[in-house]
Amino acid sequence: MVIDGTGAPPFGPMDVVIENNRIAAIRSAGTPGMPLQPNRPPKAQHEIDGTGMYLLPGFVNLHMHVGGTPKSPEAEYTFKLWMAHGVTSGRGVELGPQAYAAPEKERSAKNQIVAPRIFNYQRPGNGWTRGPVTTPEMAREWVRWCKENGIDGMKLVAYPPAIMAALLDEAKKVGFGSTAHLEQRGVAQMNALTAAKLGLGTVTHFYGHFEALLKDYEIQPWPAQMNYNDEYYRFAQVARLYDKTYEPGSPQWNEYLAEHAKLGTIFDPTMTAYAAGRDVMRMRNADWHDKYTLPTLHDFYRPDRNNHGSYFFDWTLDDEIHWRRFYQLWFRLLNDYKKMGGRVTASDDAAFIYNTWGFGYIHELELMQEAGFHPLEVIRGATMHAAEALHEPYGKEIEFGIIRAGMLADMFLVDQNPLQNLKVLYGTGAVRLNDATNQIDRVGGVRWTIKDGIAYDAKKMLADVAAMVEKQKAERAKR
Ligand SMILES: [Zn+2]
Repeated sequence: MVIDGTGAPPFGPMDVVIENNRIAAIRSAGTPGMPLQPNRPPKAQHEIDGTGMYLLPGFVNLHMHVGGTPKSPEAEYTFKLWMAHGVTSGRGVELGPQAYAAPEKERSAKNQIVAPRIFNYQRPGNGWTRGPVTTPEMAREWVRWCKENGIDGMKLVAYPPAIMAALLDEAKKVGFGSTAHLEQRGVAQMNALTAAKLGLGTVTHFYGHFEALLKDYEIQPWPAQMNYNDEYYRFAQVARLYDKTYEPGSPQWNEYLAEHAKLGTIFDPTMTAYAAGRDVMRMRNADWHDKYTLPTLHDFYRPDRNNHGSYFFDWTLDDEIHWRRFYQLWFRLLNDYKKMGGRVTASDDAAFIYNTWGFGYIHELELMQEAGFHPLEVIRGATMHAAEALHEPYGKEIEFGIIRAGMLADMFLVDQNPLQNLKVLYGTGAVRLNDATNQIDRVGGVRWTIKDGIAYDAKKMLADVAAMVEKQKAERAKR
């Protein structure tokens, strides 16, 4: 059964023919409810029997970091978690420093490592030897330098308006991608709409939207004891905008979204990255941690004043309730944007806040459905729309993100129906009571991930990850 990523309903049974690294043909393999046609051409060198399975385009992860020491010393751990969850390409924002990300992108492109395709985005000032970007002229020079040095785009924060304008204008001129985390220190001067009007391609997280929609204020009314560098305050307070904006559905709300839709802004929310704020116990004890989260990564998640995102120093029910209310408004914003034709994409921004790679990506899909998206809309956001985000800056048609003849062969197979339950995509599967045996089964988990025409056994990749976790645990036990 094919779910092609465009929003088309599932169809099948089909044969998908891959030649080298591209989809050569998609052909009927028979009639639903009847035995498959026998002796169907072509006779392939390699065949995967996908009978009873669903084939989807490889997922595109628009917010990736690889981690590194002390969280996860080996990139193989991260890459295999993504690939085992069907993620075959993504945007590093940044994946790591330029000296690390550029060769990794290259090795992935040549399939010398098991890793998704990497779009290498860097922060202004990264890569070259001239240091941080401090003037509009430098901003333009840095963008041009990146373009000549194989960097695909830039990860921005809310820079001062003159620098932001120069970065985005130069990016438009030379064909260079952009995504921004419009953080609170700059958002009073640069909200999501201001930035989008300057040419920003993607707004990641939620920062910059609700500030643009404040009803009685222009600046978020922070409490007097606010200190942005104290991460308890930072993360407890950022969500407390839910009762301070124009009402959903109000003219101001609709106009805000309509302007973005007209500009073609992509919203990449990373909802999973903040989900612990609304229920830290659930995220701390997620099914996958024991087997698949490295002890060093779990150490990083633990409440700690030094680690970014480990802000649960004395996280109260009241703090959680603010986040739960905030999510309701955030869901509404994303779903209303979708309904206006806006594109909402998927990503995990993992390795912070009890959010483990790959699993976090599937959790993001869950949250999109909770926001009001039909599973086919969720999948389209995670595939075709996210692929558009990666191709549009260069004026190019997408090369992956859809199951269609001529596309690169990036896809995955799962032996359960994801439209029935997106949770079957978790590496740990979905829990189902088997009435025949009275046993509890875990069903699903991606079976095969195909990138660039190469098939990877997803269960084997997960077993490799589990072995890395096991090894670290054994070393700790010895100490
Ligand atoms: Zn991030």
